[in-house]
Amino acid sequence: MIIVIDGPSGAGKSSTAKAVAARAGLNLLDTGAFYRMATLLYLRHGSEMSVLLKRLNEVSLDLELQDSGLHFLIDGEDVTDLIRTPDVSDKVSLVASNGQVRDLVNNRLRPIASTGNFIAEGRDLGTVVFPQADLKFWMTADLEKRTQRRLAELSDAGHHIDEASVRKNLAERDRIDSSRDIAPLERARDAIDIDTTSLNFEQQVNFILEQYHHWRTKHQQ
Ligand code: C5P
Repeated sequence: MIIVIDGPSGAGKSSTAKAVAARAGLNLLDTGAFYRMATLLYLRHGSEMSVLLKRLNEVSLDLELQDSGLHFLIDGEDVTDLIRTPDVSDKVSLVASNGQVRDLVNNRLRPIASTGNFIAEGRDLGTVVFPQADLKFWMTADLEKRTQRRLAELSDAGHHIDEASVRKNLAERDRIDSSRDIAPLERARDAIDIDTTSLNFEQQVNFILEQYHHWRTKHQQ
């Protein structure tokens, strides 16, 4: 089975999906990390889209569950920390707006998800990548709340960025992600809404767990 969570940057999708995965015994699929790996390659190859597309056909993009959490690998190199830098965040929406990049990433995501029970989070999962998902969520929060959460996350990871830059990056990524021609950030019609602006972390995790348990009872799994 597969549960998907889509929504704008910083709504709490990653941390919520991670907690639900741990408590419900599901595998976790962070799809944004694949666009971030593509972006790291793009920056490493002189920000040339044609070179990136060639490289994406040659390298392997993988995820691996280690004791410390989910790790991301390009041809075996652990790039988990490198893909979270502000340089990558600044360019990821641009790279992700390329249709060929999206096809290459999706061709990697779908086989991964077919290997077991997953909870995946991203932008176009319920609409394009996994339209047959068993449960779909659309997670949002207002820009102010998302800015504060992202600031705290970055500071925990040792990146000290000013608040205005974080707010600007989130708003800019939402703008590009929602307005791109191919697979834009969009709510699936059959998604369940969660606005996390005034929910705490436990509430948002429990909301999804309840829906999952309800689904399991209904499908006797
Ligand atoms: O989730 P995260 O913030 O790491 O995603 C980084 C970027 O990857 C997003 O801003 C978006 O441009 C892109 N993305 C996407 N489709 C997805 C997941 C992420 O376009 N399914």
